[in-house]
Amino acid sequence: MNIELNIRELSQWGIPYSDVFVISGPCSAESRKQMIDTACAIAKYPVSALRGGIWKPRTRPGSFEGVGAEGLAWLREAGDRAGLPVTTEVAKPSHVEKCLRQGIDILWIGARTTTNPFAVQEIADALRGVDIPVLVKNPISPDLGLWIGAIERVNQAGITRIAAIHRGFCSFNEKVYRNTPEWRIPIELRRKIPKLPMICDPSHICGTVELLSGIIRKAMDLLFDGLMIECHINPRAALSDAQQQVTPRELGVLLSHLNVKQVSTDDPHYLRSITHLRSTIDILDEQIMQLLLQRMNISMDIGRLKKQNNISILQPERLQKMLQDRLESANRLGLDEQFVLRLYQYIHEESIRKQELVESGD
Ligand code: PEP
Ligand code: MN
Repeated sequence: MNIELNIRELSQWGIPYSDVFVISGPCSAESRKQMIDTACAIAKYPVSALRGGIWKPRTRPGSFEGVGAEGLAWLREAGDRAGLPVTTEVAKPSHVEKCLRQGIDILWIGARTTTNPFAVQEIADALRGVDIPVLVKNPISPDLGLWIGAIERVNQAGITRIAAIHRGFCSFNEKVYRNTPEWRIPIELRRKIPKLPMICDPSHICGTVELLSGIIRKAMDLLFDGLMIECHINPRAALSDAQQQVTPRELGVLLSHLNVKQVSTDDPHYLRSITHLRSTIDILDEQIMQLLLQRMNISMDIGRLKKQNNISILQPERLQKMLQDRLESANRLGLDEQFVLRLYQYIHEESIRKQELVESGD
């Protein structure tokens, strides 16, 4: 099901950008000088807006929690000097009021806040009757419903300039990234709300600057409309997220390598080739479906046999052996092991469900 929102496209926001809407600036506003120096240095590059965190939601008490409202004036002045609109995170109605009073141009709702519908609703209520762009970061957990819910709350308050920011998700298993990208979630969001502008925040996904270029490339491949990249005039001295902030010069290099992708082209050679390849895929998918149907029918035969003989549906040894064999085939054929493992876990889950239907039926 598609979700209809009353939203304006990015090109109707009234904020100039070239191909990609880039928001950059420090994780936190730390001093007037740091904000002005960073803003003037990044303004040389194709950046559309300046960021600076004023109230920082820190996981543990005792770390730097932002300079608070006095930083709003630094952010505003830095933006004015650099000729850039400015944006910061709001987590409660009093933040919204202070930002509006200071003339902040764009607001964003942070990941921890999106997680809490009460907090989002209070912010949305404070925004009623105000015409300001609002960016909604994904919640900490990979829960698309919560993300969409927050976007809907903001939209129902009358905000029409809305974008989603993908900043990755908390995960116990993730070892490489600070926040695992789980690309399937932003892809699904785009499928459900096609008109919603989407911004990728590689800084909070990566947690370290070395990984940024790979995530930026992926974001461009997945047609993200914008990027939020943390940049500090002297990252090593940063009071928050020091490892993931780039210098303005490094930002310039990252942006100079942006490879912006188009959804399509009218080149006839491309169109002929893609049509041929897609129809081949369609035929193969039909065959895969037929095979899956046959496989499920056999699972049900097995279910009947187990039922007649009072045998358990789950057969741990068989499952172990089956997955092992499939992984060996995957290796032999050059298919990705993790992909094949996940695929067969899904297939097995469905097979169990079918056998349970047999068990509870005739
Ligand atoms: C930030 O942008 O500095 C921030 C705190 O982000 P998130 O809400 O994504 O953790
Ligand atoms: Mn940060």
